[in-house]
Amino acid sequence: MDNRVATIFELTQALGNPGQVLEALGVVEDTVFRKCPKKCTHCECKKFETLELVGISSKPLFYECVACGTLHLKYTRDWVEKQFTKIDGLWTNPNDWEEPEDLELPS
Ligand SMILES: [Zn+2]
Repeated sequence: MDNRVATIFELTQALGNPGQVLEALGVVEDTVFRKCPKKCTHCECKKFETLELVGISSKPLFYECVACGTLHLKYTRDWVEKQFTKIDGLWTNPNDWEEPEDLELPS
């Protein structure tokens, strides 16, 4: 499976919060796929690429449908949104978020 890398700095600058950024990227549901989905839940295409976000995480966060671009979460939406706090100075209230050390990564 190919891995695609995207930068979302402009998106995160333009939008108000991580949830909105995820929606703009193409995350349409909260279902977590720890393994690649058999088919896209949106268009039923069976081909996917993984998608990594520069500055957010050093590993792929989504399975992206090559046909329609819908993103399928590899991790919970909450966890992914918390990774956005790694972008310095972006969010006004970083203290609202849990400490990353408390998180258990799904493997
Ligand atoms: Zn699709």
